[in-house]
Amino acid sequence: MSVYFTWPDRRFRYECRGCGACCKGHGIGIDVTAGQLVQLVARRPEIAAFVRRRGDAVTAFNPRDRCWFLEDDGLCRVEVEDGRAAKPASCRLFPFNRVFRIGGHMVVDYNSVICPLVVVGDDGVGHDEILAEIASIQDPAIIGTQLPADDALVAREQAIADAIFATADLEAAWVAQDTAAFATARDQASTAFTAILGTPWQAPAAATLDTALHLTPSMRFNELYGPRQYAPRDKVPPILARMWVAWLGFAALGERLARRPLGLQELTTIWSEQAPLMHAIARWSDAPALKPGPIELPNIDPGGLVRALGQRIVDNRKARRPFGELVIAVLGGADPTSRVTALKLADPIVRNAFA
Ligand code: SF4
Repeated sequence: MSVYFTWPDRRFRYECRGCGACCKGHGIGIDVTAGQLVQLVARRPEIAAFVRRRGDAVTAFNPRDRCWFLEDDGLCRVEVEDGRAAKPASCRLFPFNRVFRIGGHMVVDYNSVICPLVVVGDDGVGHDEILAEIASIQDPAIIGTQLPADDALVAREQAIADAIFATADLEAAWVAQDTAAFATARDQASTAFTAILGTPWQAPAAATLDTALHLTPSMRFNELYGPRQYAPRDKVPPILARMWVAWLGFAALGERLARRPLGLQELTTIWSEQAPLMHAIARWSDAPALKPGPIELPNIDPGGLVRALGQRIVDNRKARRPFGELVIAVLGGADPTSRVTALKLADPIVRNAFA
């Protein structure tokens, strides 16, 4: 089985300062196959009351403010008292605990939201160390989450990741992802940024860009296999590449706002928060269409802008005008905050219009 790591070998490190963010309310993934549940219950019978199933996995609930086993000094009592092998399997792997099987591939991803991972030279956690940890876990629910098989897609993502990890250049990173000219994608993003925000697209500065490039394969993987599904999986890659350009533009705005380079956590949250706008920008030149009939509107629709945009899309069946033109026609007179809000609220409608 080939293994695809979504980050480059030894380039990520976390210094656990006992912040305990990973030990607060995310549950405890237990290696049932290896007898970890029996062992845990034997040593701490009260935990039996909090066991639950999450799909195929057996986990134990732990409170949001603090795991049952998190000590005041930030250490895990299970590990301190019983040794590292007894520590729940998902906790041992964390933050590299997102392990999937896709056809003949194992994909190993990481949690860049909860854990303060940083990009380092070459003294980070090694892929070999992660593989050794994975080999010590038997429960397929922890290290064998099955995703729809598409070996060609994973191989392509791996090739893209290799090319991106080999460059610090924005245009080269685009070329790794898409065959269209970078200038076209950048100009489209700039047109859309100007129409929505009144300011053109800009690339982030070198430090933020470097972190973003390290993060890109993981963001791609999660958009391809996550719940959002802006298009059928085989149609996503070209949209994804244009969403990526938009993401970098939001990263540039974020670093201007923060007045410092952005890290992995910040860039990850920008991706998840801004995805509706990134998708809208990626679709700027495509023609949306909705069947006539009632439009499913959000509960709130300030100024009726979402309804108006939805109606424009319904009326667009014959004219096939690009999405950007419809946005400008409906939202052009609004201020930037109203445009941003309306486009985010309209995300389900826009998603439908390109389904
Ligand atoms: S079992 Fe230990 S490592 Fe796992 S969440 Fe609880 S305190 Fe953290």
